[in-house]
Amino acid sequence: MNARVAFEVETLVPTEHGRFRFRGYRDLVTGAEHVAIIAGLLGQGTLVRVHSECLTGEAFLSLKCECGPQLDAALEMISRRGGVVIYMRGHEGRGIGLINKLKAYQLQESGLDTLDANLALGLPADDREYAAAVAILDDLGIRSVQLITNNPEKLQQVARGGITVERVPIVVGESPFNSGYLSTKHERMGHLSGAATAG
Ligand SMILES: [Zn+2]
Repeated sequence: MNARVAFEVETLVPTEHGRFRFRGYRDLVTGAEHVAIIAGLLGQGTLVRVHSECLTGEAFLSLKCECGPQLDAALEMISRRGGVVIYMRGHEGRGIGLINKLKAYQLQESGLDTLDANLALGLPADDREYAAAVAILDDLGIRSVQLITNNPEKLQQVARGGITVERVPIVVGESPFNSGYLSTKHERMGHLSGAATAG
């Protein structure tokens, strides 16, 4: 039992990546509706992607970030090997919301990078936290994961939640429009490179 999320529903959904079990959870702190997208039978050390909602990247295929291709790649990986994609609502724009993300994009048109744009708006560089994802893993009985990410903060938060974590790098979606964004995440926000040797 945990007080962070409430399981609400499970149903099968066919997708272009295959047929997945969708388990819907309500976040009891933020009110957000998260979904765990599951392929195959789950065990310890299963493949997991904790993915932050990104309307612009996923629905509109914006090239300013790599969220759409990352989500596609993660769904493809779990469809082949089994695993879970935990889709985190309320994480738009690293947690600052859609309108604030668009405001940050506007500031980037005048030369600020993705981090300074957030700070210029009086917002945190990254306002996401992953306790709900840990609670969902707990609900699924998963104590150890291979986490598909380049984000050290995500690795640390999941590990602090008591989950044993091994990283699986992800490299997709690089474009001329997001090379500055990706290098800022790498150089100023500590993101790991996609290479397996990056640890
Ligand atoms: Zn995005």
